[in-house]
Amino acid sequence: MSTLAELLTQSTREGELYDRLPDGRLRCYACGHCCPLPEGAAGVCKVRFNQHGRLQVPWGYVGGVQCDPIEKKPFFHAHPGALAYSFGMLGCDLHCGYCQNWVTSQAIRDPRAVAPPIDAAADQLVRDALRQGARVIVSTYNEPLITSEWAVEIFRAAKGAGLVTGFVSNGNGTPEVLEYLRPWVDLYKVVLKSFDDRHYRELGGRLEPILDTIRRLHAMGFWMEIVTLLIPGFNDSRDELQRLTSFVASVSPDIPWHVTAFHGDYKMTDPPNTTPEMLLGAAAIARESGLRHVYAGNLPGQVDGLEDTRCAVCNELLIARLGYRIKAYAVTRDGRCPSCAAPVPGRWSEAFDGQIASHPVRPGGPRLNLLRSS
Ligand code: SF4
Repeated sequence: MSTLAELLTQSTREGELYDRLPDGRLRCYACGHCCPLPEGAAGVCKVRFNQHGRLQVPWGYVGGVQCDPIEKKPFFHAHPGALAYSFGMLGCDLHCGYCQNWVTSQAIRDPRAVAPPIDAAADQLVRDALRQGARVIVSTYNEPLITSEWAVEIFRAAKGAGLVTGFVSNGNGTPEVLEYLRPWVDLYKVVLKSFDDRHYRELGGRLEPILDTIRRLHAMGFWMEIVTLLIPGFNDSRDELQRLTSFVASVSPDIPWHVTAFHGDYKMTDPPNTTPEMLLGAAAIARESGLRHVYAGNLPGQVDGLEDTRCAVCNELLIARLGYRIKAYAVTRDGRCPSCAAPVPGRWSEAFDGQIASHPVRPGGPRLNLLRSS
């Protein structure tokens, strides 16, 4: 029986995001590590490797599929209520001790993470997404940048079928990968984990490439929202939150910032769970920093209205939420406040048509014709 690493080595094709260095090594540009790869070597992510002078990259499978309300990503200013057909791959370029998707993200690094790949073709996934009623398709659950070529293959088919596309990413990008993705990715969620380079190095990354990616995403016209998981004792000091939220506001005060509650997971089980008061305190700092759309997540009904969207000009209630469920919707067809007509930043559908699901569900209806690799 093949090991997971052997299976994934077979499910590849030559990638596009690399150059040859003068000394014969390959330089991968899919994420901020920019690994130089000698013959036979894999990158930090473990899923891209130099084989006979060509960069082989993941292709033709998914690690899992789920139908999520778009509010779960979380995107609050992009097609509210839409069903987001969400696929994950395997592997990651970071190794966060608190990862909530570690079974897929650490599948090759950690022998306890067992997530066999599921063979899939791009048009199969798109057909299945349409069958579920999805309007959005999202690469999520592990780091999508490391499988950018495969995501583009799926998104090319998805856009042909009228779907909106998105990434949920740690933001450890490069100028090259963002240029490559720009024609195919509409929505980009960055998980900004900290504003301290030492913390990022503990997670296996660096802060600067992530800040650079955030600046570029905004300048290039992706619709971006940012989320920070608030971990007591790790990233919740007033100073760090002030610097983090001031940075986001300096890129644009209209970028929605979500601060969400931590619970112990994977290797990080010591910190206490985040309380509603901690979220409210962080949200207040974000407001002081100038952010206009601040949300508190993972504690439905306990965050004093910070699940709702309000007009930044007149404070009119635009979207009322409880958890992922939309309770009321008042954004106009052209994306404005119905009270003062101020434009609401985001990507708005012409109307809110109700939700197919306000909680995650497995794809239903006719079975997705996917075969487990053996
Ligand atoms: S995706 Fe990132 S970690 Fe993986 S090989 Fe490329 S640069 Fe290295």
